[in-house]
Amino acid sequence: MDSFEYHRPSTQKQASLLLTSSPRAHVVSGNTDLLGEMKQGLVHPESLVSLADVEGMKVFHINGNESKLGSMVTLSDIVDSKYLKVNFPALVEAAASVATPQIRSIGTLGGNLCQRPRCWYYRSPLFDCLKKGGNKCFAVGGLDKYHSIIGGEKCWIVHPSDIAVALTALDAKVKIFGPSGYKNMKIDDFFVGPGIDIHNENVLKEGEFVSSIEISCDDKSSSTFLKFKERQSMDFALASAAVSISLAEGKIHRAGVALGGIAPIPWRLQEIEEYMMGIPIDDLRCSDEFSAKVESSLGDAKPMSENNAYKIDLAISHLKRALDKVIQDLC
Ligand SMILES: Cc1cc2nc3c(=O)[nH]c(=O)nc-3n(C[C@H](O)[C@H](O)[C@H](O)COP(=O)(O)OP(=O)(O)OC[C@H]3O[C@@H](n4cnc5c(N)ncnc54)[C@H](O)[C@@H]3O)c2cc1C
Ligand code: SF4
Repeated sequence: MDSFEYHRPSTQKQASLLLTSSPRAHVVSGNTDLLGEMKQGLVHPESLVSLADVEGMKVFHINGNESKLGSMVTLSDIVDSKYLKVNFPALVEAAASVATPQIRSIGTLGGNLCQRPRCWYYRSPLFDCLKKGGNKCFAVGGLDKYHSIIGGEKCWIVHPSDIAVALTALDAKVKIFGPSGYKNMKIDDFFVGPGIDIHNENVLKEGEFVSSIEISCDDKSSSTFLKFKERQSMDFALASAAVSISLAEGKIHRAGVALGGIAPIPWRLQEIEEYMMGIPIDDLRCSDEFSAKVESSLGDAKPMSENNAYKIDLAISHLKRALDKVIQDLC
């Protein structure tokens, strides 16, 4: 590993300034992902800017139905929160499904959302693939069992973050701090696929970092996150599904549905969400039309080969189970 400077600023402004001082400055939170990248020689930081001492980054603030989670909140903090368990079960279930207790106690919310892909060609220093500035995607015609079945274009990674899938279904907002201060955006606008930017998985620019996440809950709502992994001890998702539904007078007035492990970004199923709006929750339970829509919701999927085609059935079966669970909770 090359030598590097290590900074521990105490304000977001200082952190942003330090990040703009060198094109090879990297923001670091729990370092459970970045350290691996450094050891594998995938990144060569000139300086690391730690958010550990930055004021206000570990906040967990509840104001009425609105919650704000600082990006330095750890995944264990999320798992242990009784408030989140009651109001945002999908987020807690996603956090609990990540890695091991040791990694969850250090890994942070911001770091989880901004972790780099797990494509084995990307992670190996032996393959100079398109994402790393090379001229070839080695997954095409290569080992593609874990790669995307939809939304891949030139690069076929799947987004590795389970939390991102849950937060997409929960319609979270991302608050970014950078050289021009704060900006807020919907979580859907935060992640970008390879068709827009093949080198990065989000819209962060030089000097910017995730400051916090905001989520809001409704009086009558339920959510869940289900994940399938190859190894039961700890593993990334082969496929996952997150569903969040809110009711007003027995009818659905907000629906969030997202799939993970199948695309370079958390995959929102907007058609399913729109179909559910305004429908009495009881009617949804026995609607053949709705079942057919769910069954065909990955109709546009194009697996890379027969090796990753299994992900269509896996994702749909998890989606059905997640929908059933949330609908049952609310009936
Ligand atoms: C063995 C293992 C198994 C895992 N299994 C899973 C899993 O099943 N599901 C899952 O979702 N994840 C999994 N992970 C990933 C793990 O969740 C992440 O490593 C962790 O959440 C990253 O958090 P961190 O704070 O340590 O990030 P860091 O390692 O500090 O940073 C990760 C990346 O994000 C950037 N970054 C950090 N904080 C910010 C910020 N606030 N704003 C902008 N950029 C930032 C860094 O520059 C770096 O590129 C696993 C990791 C390991 C090592
Ligand atoms: S899927 Fe993306 S990261 Fe993996 S080899 Fe292809 S270009 Fe590289």
